[in-house]
Order: sequence, then structure tokens, then C-alpha cells
Amino acid sequence: MTNRREENVWIPESDLDGMTVDTLAVRAGQIRTGQLEHSDPIFPTSSFVYGSAAQAAARFGGEEPGNIYSRFTNPTVQAFEGRIAAMEGGERAVATASGMAAILSTCMALLKSGDHVVCSRGVFGTTNVLFQKYLAKFGVETTFVGLTDMDQWERAVRPETRMLFIETPSNPLCEVADMKALSSLAKANKALFVVDNCFCTPVLQRPLEFGADIVIHSATKYLDGQGRCVGGVVVGPNKLMEEVYGFLRSAGPTMSPFNAWVFLKGLETLPIRMRAHCDNALELALWLDQQDNVEEVFYAGLETHPQHSLAKSQQSGFGGVLSFRVKGGRDEAWRFIDATRMISITANLGDVKTTVTHPATTTHGRLSPEDKDAAGITENLIRISVGIEAVEDLKTDLARGLEALQSSSNGNV
Ligand SMILES: *Cc1c(COP(=O)(O)O)cnc(C)c1O
Repeated sequence: MTNRREENVWIPESDLDGMTVDTLAVRAGQIRTGQLEHSDPIFPTSSFVYGSAAQAAARFGGEEPGNIYSRFTNPTVQAFEGRIAAMEGGERAVATASGMAAILSTCMALLKSGDHVVCSRGVFGTTNVLFQKYLAKFGVETTFVGLTDMDQWERAVRPETRMLFIETPSNPLCEVADMKALSSLAKANKALFVVDNCFCTPVLQRPLEFGADIVIHSATKYLDGQGRCVGGVVVGPNKLMEEVYGFLRSAGPTMSPFNAWVFLKGLETLPIRMRAHCDNALELALWLDQQDNVEEVFYAGLETHPQHSLAKSQQSGFGGVLSFRVKGGRDEAWRFIDATRMISITANLGDVKTTVTHPATTTHGRLSPEDKDAAGITENLIRISVGIEAVEDLKTDLARGLEALQSSSNGNV
């Protein structure tokens, strides 16, 4: 049987059995209509029609699969879900309106009042707020621990702990968690192990292979890769995803078909983009490490990084985000940032365009001084999300920042 000329068919996943993530990024989850288009079609429609009243009844009753309404069934969104599920090696994916909606949907579907969460301290700032302010209102308590400190994880777990939540590598200090160890801890306590895989994408790291139960993405970052759309996705086993999907259907934090289509296009180039991000980031990390006015560089690709070998065992590349401390404090960090000319000053990341930000006053600005200290977010810390421009040009621009520090330190003498 061939799928190639049939109309309105999902191209069967079995044709892609055993293929690599690079191929799945281009091919998985595609649907082809009677027009036999080569690129993925887009279905910008809120609802769908039925051949008869009986068919409508069968669809609504769940006896017949098929499209009903785009809050919970849209072919473009399903194509995106199929592709990312294949890439992560998960049974099913549920797409959401944003990365935060993916985290919220997971928690609302799988936690209840009285449950306890243990979360790594360095997570995305808004994830912190979601757990600490909003889930707490509904009786879900969260304890924050150091990402790489297994003693702290073990001590934080309680009988009512239902979820361990991490990001690895962490933002912005690039700490790397031992996913197998955390997965064992979660299993021993019948808790879910959830990994936000935004920084690595399935091209560099597939947490399900290291024992994660659920993988979460902000599709806004690398999956899109060109800074166009906000979206998210949750990947995991059918049983858990059925619950997440049920929440999405009832609560409605749905991905739009237009955004799903943009993400499908983004995924097609994700493998080659990730390699370019990794190559540039490693070269810049090595280069920054040699500069006089740079105190310390944080990037798991550096051999001096404390979890370098762990990162190597879990990731096929070290990612596109690095951070470093300049000599001095906030003044010096800001002077460095303001002296660059090409690199975008923005807190966004995962874009083909290189971006620079000052975590202490932007992404992590809402943390208390004590929490900033605990997370290592000092005033002289700068984060770069390395894009795919020519690395020599990135060095030229960053050298302007270094020169600004040079002239200021001379001025102080
Ligand atoms: C951006 C981000 C999120 C939130 O995603 P949105 O799409 O902005 O809602 C979650 N986790 C990480 C690691 C992120 O970088």
C-alpha cells in the first residue's frame, strides 16, 4: 500500500520507523489533502461540517474520530503535535497557546489540592511565579531546590510530592541536572518527573530517554526559531496526555492553526539551526573565557564546566545560550550591553538573531535579593542567546562591549 497518491491522508508514521530526529523534523506528522500540496497545509477554521446529523452525533459522542471544533481538534495543530511527539520519542503531544499554558495545563490536569511539587531554583521566572503565586492559591505547594544538589532534592521530597520539575541546562548559568538520578527519585516516590526541554530541543536532548515522564516546550523559542509566534507543547504517554488534552478541551489554552503552521516550518530547519547555534556558542564561550575583563564564563561545552561530562552524556550539543560575569557590577554589565551595536538587547532567546540581556534586572528582576544570590544571578552577569550570524561578526560586536569596559577601567586609574 502506498500513501503517496491517496487523498486526505496522514502520511503514516510507520514509513518513518527508525529514522533520525533530523528526518522526523522535516517529515513527521504531515497531512496531505486532495490538492496534493507538498508543503504542510494550514486549516484556519474554527469549526468543521458533517455529512449528516447522524455523523455529527457520532463525532460529538466520540464514536467516530474526526474534527469538531478548533479549540481541541485542528489538523494543522495535530500535524505539529505529531511531529514534535515523534521527535521527542513520546506517544502523544498536546499543543498549547504558549509555553506557560503548557506548564499550567500539565499542572491543572495532573495535580490536585494538597499535592506538593519540588522544582529547581533556576527555572524560567514566570514558571516560578506560576508555582509560587497561582498554584499555591489552589493548595499546591512548591519547594525550590538547587538543580544539581541531589541531597536537597531528596530532603525536599515528601509523601505528598507528586511532581519533580526541572529545566536542564538551567537559565542563565547552564547548570546540568542528572536526569536519570532525578527520574529514579521521582519513581521511588510515585511522582511525575517533568522536564522543560526548551533550551535543548529534541535535536540535542530527549528527556524521555533519560526517564522523564513528561517533556514541556515553549515553542516560542528554538522550535519557531525566528521569533514570530508564541506557543507551547506537552509530550508524554497517552494516559497522561489524555488528561492534559481533557484540560485543554475544557479550559481552552489552545494553539492557533496559524501558529502551528509557523512552528511546522520552524521544525523543518531546527536540526541545522541547532548545530549552528551550538557551534557559534562554543566558539564564543572559548573566546570570552580568554578576555581580560571577563571573570567567568558559564557554558556546559567548556571542559572546565562542573557538569561537562554529564552534559555530554545527555546532550548531543551544548546549546545556544551562555552567560558570563564581567569584572565590576551593574554599571559595567550595562556599559558592555549598551556598547554592542548589532546584537539585540532583548530577553527573548532561541532566535536566529543573537540577543543579549542583563538577567538581574530583566528575566530574574522579580526575584528577591536572597533568591538572586541563591540562584547566582549577580549584577555583573550577562546572558547571550547566540544566534546563527557569522561568529566573527558576533566577536566584532562583543569586542565593542569589552572595549567599553577597557576604557572605563582605564578611566578609573
Ligand atoms: C520562554 C520560556 C517559557 C515560557 O514560554 P512562553 O512561550 O513564553 O509562555 C518556559 N520555559 C522556558 C525555559 C522558557 O524559556
